[in-house]
Amino acid sequence: MTATQIPISVVAIGDEEEQLVLEVLRSGRLAQGPKVEELERRFAAAHDVEHAIAVNNGTTALVATLQGLGIGPGDEVITTPFSFVATLNAILETGATARFADIGDDFCLDPAAVEPLLGDRTRVVMPVHLYGLPADLPRFDQLTRDRGLALVEDSAQAHGARIDGRSVGSFGAGCFSFYATKNVMCGEGGMITTNDAALADRIRVLRNQGMRAQYEYEVPGHNYRLTDLQAAIALPQLGRLAQINEARRSNAAYLSEHLRDVPGLRLPEVPAGREHVFHQYTVRVTAEASVDRAGFVAALGERGVRAGIYYPRLMHDYDCYREHPRVVVDETPVALQAAAEAVSLPVHPQLSGADLERIVAAVTEVLR
Ligand SMILES: *Cc1c(COP(=O)(O)O)cnc(C)c1O
Repeated sequence: MTATQIPISVVAIGDEEEQLVLEVLRSGRLAQGPKVEELERRFAAAHDVEHAIAVNNGTTALVATLQGLGIGPGDEVITTPFSFVATLNAILETGATARFADIGDDFCLDPAAVEPLLGDRTRVVMPVHLYGLPADLPRFDQLTRDRGLALVEDSAQAHGARIDGRSVGSFGAGCFSFYATKNVMCGEGGMITTNDAALADRIRVLRNQGMRAQYEYEVPGHNYRLTDLQAAIALPQLGRLAQINEARRSNAAYLSEHLRDVPGLRLPEVPAGREHVFHQYTVRVTAEASVDRAGFVAALGERGVRAGIYYPRLMHDYDCYREHPRVVVDETPVALQAAAEAVSLPVHPQLSGADLERIVAAVTEVLR
């Protein structure tokens, strides 16, 4: 048994981040300022969009975007049931109603499953680029355009991911997170991307107490601002995004190559045209496996490999949502099965060659 543990995620802070944070500390400008502005500019460029608006986390990115679109009570937002709960909480925060369509084999919202749920109250379709894999954006783009609906992309796990060469967050409004475990991070932080100048403007006003000029309140707003201290951490990471994503992709390729023939294991597939950025490398432990999922995760843990379950249940499958008047649940069998089978293996850029070998050996040993 090996003593060292291979964690599911690692916070990697370099000299550049340290230097820039010191620079901000010494400048005395700690709140939103020039570093946030620079982060917005560079984030927009990296995602081929005209506007990027920084906010204080990924959840408020979703909330502010929905508010900027004028979504509120009486409106319906259709999303996936298989995501982090922030996706659902953001919808409820606006007063809107959440509905859930099933996912496909790619773990992402299935456009074909969304169609039958569209009704008079539907205003937004909100796919999640789960684990770093872009959802089928060309089809969501078509579907929402045809019906005059808004497309909001929960891109919290997919910085820099592309589909047919086009960046996530450039089809609809993109909502990104810089939480400590994400591909670009600064502890807590978020970003909204859009090519809609009017939407960008409304979000900027909402972010700052509804204020356009000092003490000129246009709408009741909020404080969704990011700080320059946080931007100083995110900026160097954004500069390294291509390398970060490439390291994740290369680790994922190694795992897929070496785990190909393990019985009871289904590996992540990447549909043609999509560039996965592997925020997570998520396999399925199927009914054919020699152990159940809990046993698999426990056995990996004994071998020093920290696997994660994202997510053990559907987002709405908790008491606090069961009787909620604005949570409407339809059957989603594919998502239900994913929630029962999914296990994420370490794939982060800090893995060494030896770590990857250990992960492969552990998985193979447990399932053979
Ligand atoms: C992390 C995450 C969020 C929320 O981001 P925070 O920055 O933690 O608020 C939303 N959606 C998904 C899919 C996430 O993974």
